[in-house]
Amino acid sequence: MHILLMGPPGAGKGTQAEKLIEEFKIPHISTGDMFRAAVKQGTELGKEAKKYMDAGGLVPDSVTIGIVRESLSKPQCADGFMLDGFPRTLDQAIALDGILKDLGIQLNGVVNISVPDSELVGRVTGRRICKACGATYHVTFNPSKVEDVCDKCGGNLYQRDDDKEETVKNRLGAYHSQTEPLIEYYKKQGVFMDINGLQDINKVYADVKAALGCK
Ligand code: ADP
Ligand code: ADP
Ligand code: ZN
Repeated sequence: MHILLMGPPGAGKGTQAEKLIEEFKIPHISTGDMFRAAVKQGTELGKEAKKYMDAGGLVPDSVTIGIVRESLSKPQCADGFMLDGFPRTLDQAIALDGILKDLGIQLNGVVNISVPDSELVGRVTGRRICKACGATYHVTFNPSKVEDVCDKCGGNLYQRDDDKEETVKNRLGAYHSQTEPLIEYYKKQGVFMDINGLQDINKVYADVKAALGCK
């Protein structure tokens, strides 16, 4: 299973990825998670990425493509992976085709989770993440049992720096201008699948699995 999860910020990519990795045990490659880890560690990559993330823009392709190439070249990705949040530009998609060709891997599917902008601001601003295990919650749509405490591991929940309303508007702008055109790109490759992300989390998951041909 070599798949891509696409969709605007807040569509539910991370939430669906969590479920897919738990069930199918494939490596999860999230460029957003990799950049946040680098920011936390204070590496050069983190310092560079943070400038763009805080403004709600995209980290330059030259930086992003290199880290994805490195991850996908690891042996554990040969049998399957789930890329989440990459590619986000046409140049990233073209680079990915080259990386996969070099590795002799074919994409099985591109799963796009569609949600209108009007819904996304509330999803992103209400998002909370576990500091310890990275699980995703929402203050209204998917609350933890105890406020600000992770159900899975007891860790504290926090709000990402870029999940503020001002930044979300820029991120939606970047999505529409730079990422949305990839829908046509993957439709032409014949691997594109569209999922209605406005349904509840479990229904979206059932649709994702059906699209991928799983029971
Ligand atoms: P993405 O990775 O696409 O940015 P997330 O999976 O982090 O999105 O989801 C964004 C927010 O919306 C989170 O707070 C999550 O709990 C919530 N969420 C995810 N899927 C749904 C859904 N189907 N309905 C309502 N809220 C959802
Ligand atoms: P969301 O799904 O909520 O948009 P992500 O966690 O995927 O958030 O990404 C957070 C931020 O990290 C993005 O706004 C962007 O600055 C940066 N980023 C993540 N993936 C990429 C990518 N493929 N190309 C460029 N920047 C990226
Ligand atoms: Zn946790």
